[in-house]
Amino acid sequence: MSESCIFCRIAKGEVPSSKVFETEKIFAFKDIEPKAPTHILIIPKEHFSTLNDLENSPALVGEMLCSAAKIAKDFGIEKTGYRTILNCNSDGGQEVYHVHLHLLGGKKLKNPF
Ligand code: AMP
Ligand code: ZN
Repeated sequence: MSESCIFCRIAKGEVPSSKVFETEKIFAFKDIEPKAPTHILIIPKEHFSTLNDLENSPALVGEMLCSAAKIAKDFGIEKTGYRTILNCNSDGGQEVYHVHLHLLGGKKLKNPF
């Protein structure tokens, strides 16, 4: 699974990315097709396909969200605001099947629904 997974390869440094943050368990990088002036993807280094696989990993999900808050501060958007999105499976609009949290900000975002 992980050999063919683009985000596993990014986390391992095998595929180039614009890294913005890293911990032992988390890797964060700029989205290649940004939908806002700040558009960062936050992923666990370990491969999980969807949020469904993290039902019993609250610490890891928490670290993903806390990383978003830290990165938002680093990018100076914590006061103007931002949005985090985690798409799951087909109806949720997930395209890459390595779970990732979007962090979007730097402009007034429209309601996606
Ligand atoms: P999702 O629809 O939630 O699965 O989002 C997938 C996101 O991954 C999209 O916003 C893509 O632009 C982004 N993406 C796909 N490939 C790459 C890549 N190699 N580097 C950075 N972002 C990527
Ligand atoms: Zn993966």
